[in-house]
Amino acid sequence: MALETTLILFKPDAVSKSLVGTVLARFETEGFKIRGLKMMALSDEILAEHYSHIADKPFFPDVRSFMQETPVIALALEGEGVIGKVRDLLGPTDSKEAAPGTIRGDFGDKEGDAKMRNVCHASDGPEAAAAELKRFFNDGEVF
Ligand code: ADP
Repeated sequence: MALETTLILFKPDAVSKSLVGTVLARFETEGFKIRGLKMMALSDEILAEHYSHIADKPFFPDVRSFMQETPVIALALEGEGVIGKVRDLLGPTDSKEAAPGTIRGDFGDKEGDAKMRNVCHASDGPEAAAAELKRFFNDGEVF
């Protein structure tokens, strides 16, 4: 399995519910290594780029507002097959459909906003990971 680096965002629900340490511990327990970590407020511009694949959806303005409720925490995480493994650890987009034991199943919203308030973003493939690491980290910020 290839050594990869993925881009994770701890979303505002994770930050406001003080779940960042708990979720980060799950990643470290899997043996993945932190290569970059920073808190940042997301502009309309970076969100339009990051979520260009859902920009025409009726729920996009709600997603943008949600992602601006608090600063997020961006994480560059390295490991063997980390991109797919982290997606598995997260579970599906809709937290209500996510199994217990997954991050979204355990910590995502189970009420009205279950599809939106789902704790973390994680890159969905090698191309996305490369683009997203460049989007959220400047040169010299990934070690
Ligand atoms: P994922 O983050 O699981 O890869 P997508 O890329 O499809 O999911 O969507 C990006 C983000 O937009 C989701 O993580 C979620 O926060 C939000 N989202 C997706 N679908 C919906 C929806 N139907 N209603 C509200 N928010 C949604």
